[in-house]
This record gives sequence, C-alpha cells and structure tokens, in this order.
Amino acid sequence: MSINDSILNSVGLTNKNIKFLISDNGDLNEWVTLNHDQHQVLRYCTTLMTAPEHCSQCGFLLSGHFYLVGTDTASYKLPTANGYQQILLLTKQRYQCLRCKNTFIPQSKDFMPDSTISRPLVHQIIDLARRDIPEKDIADILHL
Ligand SMILES: [Zn+2]
Repeated sequence: MSINDSILNSVGLTNKNIKFLISDNGDLNEWVTLNHDQHQVLRYCTTLMTAPEHCSQCGFLLSGHFYLVGTDTASYKLPTANGYQQILLLTKQRYQCLRCKNTFIPQSKDFMPDSTISRPLVHQIIDLARRDIPEKDIADILHL
C-alpha cells in the first residue's frame, strides 16, 4: 500500500485519484490557525487531476478531446482526529469539452455537491447523532 493510500484510509477518503502533496521538508500536513476563533487545524494539501471519461453536459466521450482550463481550489472538512479539526485543501483541474464548450470539474463521491463537508465527516455526524448526543454538542465536538 502506498503512502497516499494510507493517508486516504486514515482520513476516510476513497478516491485514489486524490493525491496528497508532500512539502519540501517532507510533511504530509501542517498546523494552521483559523482566524475566526484562533483554533488549530490540521491541513492537508491535495490535488485531483483525473480527466473524466464523458462530458457532464453533452455526454461526449472525452478520451483526450478536452482542454485544460485552469484549476479551482476548495476546502473540505474531514473527520476530527484526536479532537482536532482536519481540513483538506483540494486543487481540482477544470476541463472544457471540445464539442459543447462546457467547462466542468470532475466530481468525487467523497464530497457532496455544493457542500464543504466530506462524506467521512457526514458518517461521523450520523454516528454521534445515533447516540442521542445533542446537535450543539456534535457541532462542538466536530468543529462545525
Ligand atoms: Zn460536452
């Protein structure tokens, strides 16, 4: 098992196309302080650059028939570890279909559309909710 796969397992993600970036000094993650309440967060920097097979709008088989039109970066909340919030900074390649000119970013089932909460974190929320823990306490525990 690669180091990348090991980290995916430890943070609960399943998409093996998500690649963790290692800093020049060999770190896989870094501590950062969030401004709004000054709490410490463990941040991972990653990329998702896999070309989709079909255009998401017209269904055209892409297989190399696309343009690369820049990248977008999004931040997703991961499950907490040892009481600390973990964040995934994900840089995704944006593609353009040569047929319909639609631009799009490949989706991953590890994340929900239009949400910054990752699926592994949703599972953690559901697990705590099943134990009759109040919503406010769940939000405090998971830094939501
Ligand atoms: Zn298209």
